Amino acid sequence: MAEPSRDMIRPKNYMEDVVFRHLDRIIAGADCCKCPVCRMDVAAYALNRLPSKYVATREGEVYSKLLELEHQFEADVVIAIMKAIEVVRKNPRHKEMGKGD
Ligand SMILES: [Zn+2]
Repeated sequence: MAEPSRDMIRPKNYMEDVVFRHLDRIIAGADCCKCPVCRMDVAAYALNRLPSKYVATREGEVYSKLLELEHQFEADVVIAIMKAIEVVRKNPRHKEMGKGD
């Protein structure tokens, strides 16, 4: 059996995946703008307030790793996203970015 290629191994911040797994569901149920600008602002705000969790993983391994670790951070992620929605709703940037009405 060949060794796995070193090129296939990279560090990945799995917190990003956890945030994006919950983001759309929470935004859909929230009273907030759902345009792409606000969606990304919510994601960025939440990620800036959550710890980065880098793991070195091979392609294909990442999802089982994520599922295993996600439960530890799920509550924190949901809270961070809800807080982010509040902030973005009060301060939407979609106008200055020329995207919305
Ligand atoms: Zn918006």
